[in-house]
Amino acid sequence: MSKPLITIVVPCYNERHVFPLLREALLELAQGLSPRYDVEFLIVDDGSDDGSWEQILAFAGEDQRVKAISLTRNFGHQAALTCGYDFAQGDAVVTMDADLQDPPEVVHDLVREWEKGYDVVYAVRVRREGESRFKCWTASVFYRMIRVLGQTGAPPDSGDFRLMSKRSVAAFRTLRERHRYIRGLVGWLGFRASIVKYQRKPRPAGMTKYTLSRMIQFAVDAIVSSSTVPLRLAYFLALFSALPFLAYLCYAVFMRLFFNVPLVPGWSSLILSVIILGAIILFSMGIMGEYVGRIYEQSKNRPLYLVRSNEEPSHGESAESGEPAPRV
Ligand code: UDP
Ligand code: MG
Repeated sequence: MSKPLITIVVPCYNERHVFPLLREALLELAQGLSPRYDVEFLIVDDGSDDGSWEQILAFAGEDQRVKAISLTRNFGHQAALTCGYDFAQGDAVVTMDADLQDPPEVVHDLVREWEKGYDVVYAVRVRREGESRFKCWTASVFYRMIRVLGQTGAPPDSGDFRLMSKRSVAAFRTLRERHRYIRGLVGWLGFRASIVKYQRKPRPAGMTKYTLSRMIQFAVDAIVSSSTVPLRLAYFLALFSALPFLAYLCYAVFMRLFFNVPLVPGWSSLILSVIILGAIILFSMGIMGEYVGRIYEQSKNRPLYLVRSNEEPSHGESAESGEPAPRV
């Protein structure tokens, strides 16, 4: 009887410096899993232009467990992961970063939890070695905010290092929304989930691809894709700004009626109220713009990614244009 198959999905964007280390780590991981499982490595090249693809191809040429997929351009981490989920064949699918910040040995713990019957196993970071204070602080604020706003169901401090069972991956493939925040989507699926704690490692080589502007974009995507609370913020702002003016109006009428004090319009209070109200209106419009923009993007219904080269053309053809792969 053949062994169950575990697919390890690794998105790669310009990871030339770290790839030789990744290769060794993956081989060691496969060795560790081999007594009980077959392993498939699905390496998704997200439009690298630094020679990473050649390295991936060479690896796929040497080892038939390696499937190499290259996207036509850089579609972003979340799209590359989606592509991995579409093409994965495994009974369990693990996603991990190429830069070894997600230690491959933790995969054994994830698999152990899956064996207990959990459909989703999140790897949760307990400490971040080698990451700047700024990154740790912004990450912590971000996860707390998402928790308050988003009701995503994914535990805080879980990144995209996780294991999913075949049936939860099949359910995930039906979600084709753009601007995706995969953690939120997986939480939304609602399968029985467990967590494994681990220490996030520093990057052994290469640079982070998440610049500050990309991080902000990602945070906005995460909030907007999993919550409509910001839209409702306009109500509260309107209420809070209207209340003082209402109070002032009551005061002025009261003074006029009972003390015959005439209403003298103050220039500075007028200007101030115009500026504050203007700012609130523009801010609310900006929030609405975020949502409207996403409705527009979604209505175009473009594929989430495009595949340029697929070294394993025998499966998942319909995913070539980012369309849902056949249900498993
Ligand atoms: N990545 C990707 N496409 C991108 C950016 C990143 O596939 O546009 C991959 C990258 O190669 C790595 C993972 O996503 O495997 C996480 O990226 P990175 O380490 O730069 O993020 P950080 O760990 O600093 O948040
Ligand atoms: Mg990283």
